[in-house]
Amino acid sequence: MAKKNSAKTDKKSKAPLEPQAVKERKKAPAAPVETPVEAAAVEKPVAESEPAAKAVEATAAESEPAAEVTAAEPVEEAPAPEPVCTSPRRSVAFIGSECYPFVKTGGLGDVMYALPKALVKQNCDVKVILPRYKCIPWEYQEKMIYRGAFNMDLCADGRSYYVGIMEYVWDGVVYDFIDNEEFFSSGNPYTNLIDDIPKYCYFAKAALAALNYMDWIPDIIHCHDWQAALIPVYLRTKFVNTKLTTAKTILTIHNLRFQGIYNIPTIRYWSGLPDYVFNKDALKTGRNDANMLKGGLTYANAITTVSQTYAGEIQSAWYGETLDAHLRYHAGKLRGIVNGIDYDIWNPETDACLPAGYNTSNVLEKKRENKRKLQEELGLVQDDGKFVIGLISRLTNQKGLDLVNAILPQVVDDYTQVVVLGSGDKVYEDSFRYYENACKGRVCANIMYDEARSHRIYAGADALLVPSQFEPCGLTQLIAMHYGTIPIVRETGGLKDTVEPYDMRNNSGNGFTFDRYDAGLLLDAINRAKAFYFDQRKHWDEMVLRDMEKDLSWENSAKQYKDLYLSLT
Ligand code: ADP
Repeated sequence: MAKKNSAKTDKKSKAPLEPQAVKERKKAPAAPVETPVEAAAVEKPVAESEPAAKAVEATAAESEPAAEVTAAEPVEEAPAPEPVCTSPRRSVAFIGSECYPFVKTGGLGDVMYALPKALVKQNCDVKVILPRYKCIPWEYQEKMIYRGAFNMDLCADGRSYYVGIMEYVWDGVVYDFIDNEEFFSSGNPYTNLIDDIPKYCYFAKAALAALNYMDWIPDIIHCHDWQAALIPVYLRTKFVNTKLTTAKTILTIHNLRFQGIYNIPTIRYWSGLPDYVFNKDALKTGRNDANMLKGGLTYANAITTVSQTYAGEIQSAWYGETLDAHLRYHAGKLRGIVNGIDYDIWNPETDACLPAGYNTSNVLEKKRENKRKLQEELGLVQDDGKFVIGLISRLTNQKGLDLVNAILPQVVDDYTQVVVLGSGDKVYEDSFRYYENACKGRVCANIMYDEARSHRIYAGADALLVPSQFEPCGLTQLIAMHYGTIPIVRETGGLKDTVEPYDMRNNSGNGFTFDRYDAGLLLDAINRAKAFYFDQRKHWDEMVLRDMEKDLSWENSAKQYKDLYLSLT
């Protein structure tokens, strides 16, 4: 999943950064709403000059009684959906760095939106805690209401930072945004490690401090990826004397490649964590580096990742991203739970982005219509008899794009078109642009992030390529199947768990697969799909229907998360 710029390979060795040297604190509010600072001054004055000893723990302890804090009325008070399950109620704080529709760079954003909604139906009381990035669209910013503010110490030198809480309630889920302009004012959630390390140290501690401040003590604190990985560490160190310690923590790995690694002095400075957590069983890695994800894995009560196959793979040296031994050591608390898709957003029948909505009764006819419109929109030759292959992806080497580039000229022909939608590494952006030019009318490279266009490609394409090197779960193959688009995938991670290969003896399966990471095998899988499409259309159409009818909803997975919550509490 996402987080992308903060890959461990980006790490730079630097001395602890002075806060002012990182970014100048901006005084102006992010948006013309009631500024939290001013509001804080009225409702809950916090002296900037408070001594460092008034740490966040103290701040939380001194905060106003819960009744007063919770008195603020949400603007959009949607009635919580009726719980459909009778299992005991649990409260869950969901903490991560992105969430659709506020901010999304990849699958993490989808999960942070859809899973809490699904958990509400499993009788969970869910609060999602996110950074209040400046790039969150105004339509959401303007609906947020101020819940309070306080100062929190953070760095080893005791400097304190403003923490504002802005709230938005939607579909039975409460979203609390941590507000601080110094950390969250850039246009993109992820920039570079120099900024991201302080940003997510701050976020992890502020999220816990906000829970304390609101006196909302959840049964479970569910953290996502390295940006929230310090939370279990903070909980068992800096917050050990607060009410929050009763909470159990879960850390979900959406993509092990991103770990939040930097030199120990910098992370020690910014996190303010005690020296003893920088040992080789917790945060320390290599000679002088600290790994935020590794620390979280050590301190969390349970670890999950987003498919069973990936849970096994990451314990091997090949997929383990240098944490395989650490994960093997913690294997007893690690399990895989596959992602689902949100049927309210991904529904071909009601999808407002599509020229022609459809369901299983009219998919064959309507998909042709969507294909023609897509070809028209993208400047491709308009012919619904052509085989259209889509690729919707971040353009990074994880996604198997070297394989695609190696064989693209052999894939496109008089009967086949390829549509790419993605952005990322320049080398891939340029190569797809090159192919668009070299294969005019047959290849279309949309080098951009465009949510609405992605919907139209899912609906208008016949097949979708996902040839990833590794894929923790993968959502694009799930969405494709739900839209009656046949996935062509490499058998790894969640792709292996969700796409059953076509079996001609039983006429079963959901797509076409290949195992080794090899361009020839990818080409072979595409050619098998093509031959199936042109020569055995009846069976192809049956597969389209099978895929659309496959249960890819969150319900099953949400039940498994709920069982995990119950087993921990
Ligand atoms: P990852 O999280 O590794 O990027 P996933 O398959 O888990 O991959 O999730 C990708 C999500 O991002 C899907 O919802 C997909 O539709 C969306 N997506 C990826 N690239 C684009 C793009 N260029 N434009 C629109 N949506 C995109």
